[in-house]
Amino acid sequence: MSAVPSSPPSDRRVLQLVRGQPTSDGAGVKLNRVIGQRALEMLDPFLMLDEFRSDQAGDYLAGFPNHPHRGFETVTYMLAGRMRHGDNQGNSGLLTPGSVQWMTAGRGIVHSEMPEQEDGLMWGFQLWVNLPAADKMTAPRYQDIAPERIPQRTTASGAQVRVIAGRFEDLQGPVDAAATAPVYLDVALPAGSRQSLPVPAGHNAFVYVFEGEVAVGPDGAAQPVARGELGVLGRGGDVTVAAGAQPGRLILVAGRPLGEPVAKYGPFVMNTQDEIVAAIRDFQAGRF
Ligand code: FE
Repeated sequence: MSAVPSSPPSDRRVLQLVRGQPTSDGAGVKLNRVIGQRALEMLDPFLMLDEFRSDQAGDYLAGFPNHPHRGFETVTYMLAGRMRHGDNQGNSGLLTPGSVQWMTAGRGIVHSEMPEQEDGLMWGFQLWVNLPAADKMTAPRYQDIAPERIPQRTTASGAQVRVIAGRFEDLQGPVDAAATAPVYLDVALPAGSRQSLPVPAGHNAFVYVFEGEVAVGPDGAAQPVARGELGVLGRGGDVTVAAGAQPGRLILVAGRPLGEPVAKYGPFVMNTQDEIVAAIRDFQAGRF
């Protein structure tokens, strides 16, 4: 008897379309909150997604002065502008266009994220990725990734793919985040192009469109996703994205769901309320 090959997991479809909510955070930075708002509280393991984009200095100059984090990872991807980061353990770095900072807050850090420009466009994303219980109190860690360390390729269909995390064809993203095995791709689609993107089966995944409009899903069941909208993807394998008469650009993000209870209070994300109380106490006592 020959083994029956298992059929490949089907192309993922858009289950839910989410439009970001304008809000402000830090000392008054205007941004578009896509995950972490009423329409999409979280998408395990993703706790928050913000897009910040403004060429009005007043929208971003105040920055994010010193604030704590515990229990998860923050991922900043800069498209335009410069952001200086510094923390209470003596680390400091400059985020430039095309760079990524993957910060594992673990048991606790206090840091600031401040614009290093007084005018011009400031544009990028911040994503919060949860940590499993076993890793929440790990030592804080930074992965500061310069633009040239992010592999990219123009595919046969003309799509430009940057691999921040996970794998695309033979390109491996530089981020090391074992617990959730994330995929984070930046994909620019020329008008009329179509591209299949790999997503491990079992991962939760979303597409967020930040230029133009992109059709997401298999032929005959593709959902148009407009600029500023996020498509939560259903179960399956890879996902197909296509641009119409105009070019489009998106991020595809996926991760292994943790399936653990989430207790969230501002910048602290733990498993239980008692752990949140302990986090607040530790922070107030200067133990971060
Ligand atoms: Fe922060």
